[in-house]
Amino acid sequence: MSKKQFKTESKRILDLMVNSIYTNKEIFLREIISNASDAIDKLYFKSLTDQSVGMTRDEFKINVSVNEEERTITVSDNGIGMTKDELDENLGTIAKSGSLKFVTENQLADDIDIIGQFGVGFYSVFMVADSVTVISRAFGEEKAYKWVSSGADGYVITEDMRNSCGTDIIIHLKDDTEEEKYGEFLEQYRLSSIIKKYSDYVRYPICMDVKESRLKEGTEDEYEDVIENKVINSQVPIWKKDKKDLKDEDYNNFFKDKYYDFADPLCHIHQKAEGTTTYQALLYIPSHADYNYYSKDFERGLQLYSSGVLIMDKCKDLLPEHFGFVKGLVDSEDLSLNISREMLQHDRQLSIIRKALEKKIKTELMTMQEKEREKYEKFFKVFGLTLKFGIYQSFGSNKEELQDLLMFARSSDGKMITLKEYVDNMKEEQKYIYFAAGETAEKLSALPQAELIRDKGYDMLLLTDEVDEFLMQVLREYDKKEFKSVSAGDLGLESDEEKKELEKEQEENKELLAFIKDSLDGKVSDVVISSRLKTHPVCLTAKGNVSLEMEKVLSSMPGNEKPKADRVLEINPTHPVFETLKSNFADNKDKVKSYAYLLYNQALLIEGFSVDDAVKYSLAVCELMK
Ligand code: ADP
Repeated sequence: MSKKQFKTESKRILDLMVNSIYTNKEIFLREIISNASDAIDKLYFKSLTDQSVGMTRDEFKINVSVNEEERTITVSDNGIGMTKDELDENLGTIAKSGSLKFVTENQLADDIDIIGQFGVGFYSVFMVADSVTVISRAFGEEKAYKWVSSGADGYVITEDMRNSCGTDIIIHLKDDTEEEKYGEFLEQYRLSSIIKKYSDYVRYPICMDVKESRLKEGTEDEYEDVIENKVINSQVPIWKKDKKDLKDEDYNNFFKDKYYDFADPLCHIHQKAEGTTTYQALLYIPSHADYNYYSKDFERGLQLYSSGVLIMDKCKDLLPEHFGFVKGLVDSEDLSLNISREMLQHDRQLSIIRKALEKKIKTELMTMQEKEREKYEKFFKVFGLTLKFGIYQSFGSNKEELQDLLMFARSSDGKMITLKEYVDNMKEEQKYIYFAAGETAEKLSALPQAELIRDKGYDMLLLTDEVDEFLMQVLREYDKKEFKSVSAGDLGLESDEEKKELEKEQEENKELLAFIKDSLDGKVSDVVISSRLKTHPVCLTAKGNVSLEMEKVLSSMPGNEKPKADRVLEINPTHPVFETLKSNFADNKDKVKSYAYLLYNQALLIEGFSVDDAVKYSLAVCELMK
């Protein structure tokens, strides 16, 4: 009988547990009971299709008992049990891949975060125990096996006895120290209140031998101690309870326990529907994103219960992708227990529930936006990108539902506003919703292209997420007002008269502009007189569908197709530089050529591009200074 070692990664978590300074050690019981409940779920589930289980729903139970002399707590269940291999595999390896990854990536110095964020299942028992014995007999097996471990030095598995299938977890408590009184977990009152606190909604009875003082029969003042096996938990899941019996704190505690979060959620939604489809839903909007939320690893979805029995852990079909940040569960008696993943996708009830939830989440967010603005802004900062991608990826088919949830910073004061707020504040004669896209709000506020717009007193939306401009293309308009980039060819600002004036100026300088274009050697598709510039000499704009900002985003993405913006160099006709160009054009074309080169590169720099050839540019500037 040789000792086996824990897998390296598991050993690290185990060490953390053994030496834990986590104050909330009592959660070990919640973890053990939740495993017991899962094991019963599995066997109950089996019993629905497999006659040989031979047990009815009311026979399943979890029992917690204490032996004060031995300093042990035993948690027993009559669930599915574990085979020898399963004992080895399940208890020798940490199951929660998330917590493992978190530990290895963050080289955690303490255990607070990991226990708080993920819970650590079975191993948490080593926060309070110096040795643990697991006796288990798997359903359908004759033999039982015993797994014993005192923590980091490994574990031993031997053959054992057990009357029927199920598992006993025997927890031997550590000795009391100055700081920690582990012995308190042996106290009946302490133990039963921990069970009530964390495991009240567990759907199987959790029983305990409870000692009570009772009046002796036939006497009037003589008492005797009687021991009775009592059910401690109410077994009513929180979502089945009446809203008026629940406080915010109850909802928040349930969230933190169930989804291993350390922070309260931003809000909860508790919905009970009756009628053509009957279900209860308990949904949460978390206050922060999971560490892997924006990665491919993240699995969205709600837990799906059928009459209180968990049938799927992450049911994607219950949530649209753009609300993927929502956590929670749905319980419906209308769903069959044995429904398969494939069948679920086409289930009519499920799609009714999904639609109702989507609507409810939207309403909840709109209310938050209206009534609790600060909270909403916090939400949008964390999850706004999900909404934006949601609209973009569906090519705008859901824009009606989602566009009012969007927020952007406005140029006048940097405040986050909705599209409706922008439109409500538009000047009377203003035709378009103007936006500027780029890296930071500061850079965008100073953009030369926006001079005329600022001059007119119009606000701009400042777009700083990469997806933003693509999003605008998909949205196209809001409240019949078209979106317009301040870098787009035509800002739609000039009166007919101004347009004529511009055309005239363009016509008069036709040859000069054509010469500049030629000397730039294909770098720009046009050189034009600008109407948007006030104080700056030049700027770059783009014709067509690909803006300069989009070109930058696309060029930073993988893939070989990198569309380029169709660049236009705009020159300010009222700037002294333009006079210089004009006067030199008659007798010193070489000078115009080198000025054109300088101006184009300046425009590139302002736009946040790098100059094509830094050395050549520097030499050209020096030449000018001579
Ligand atoms: P998790 O519960 O998140 O999977 P744990 O570390 O708590 O992680 O448990 C590891 C595994 O051990 C479980 O997934 C389960 O397969 C098995 N297990 C634990 N306790 C029991 C039990 N009482 N009955 C049957 N299997 C159990």
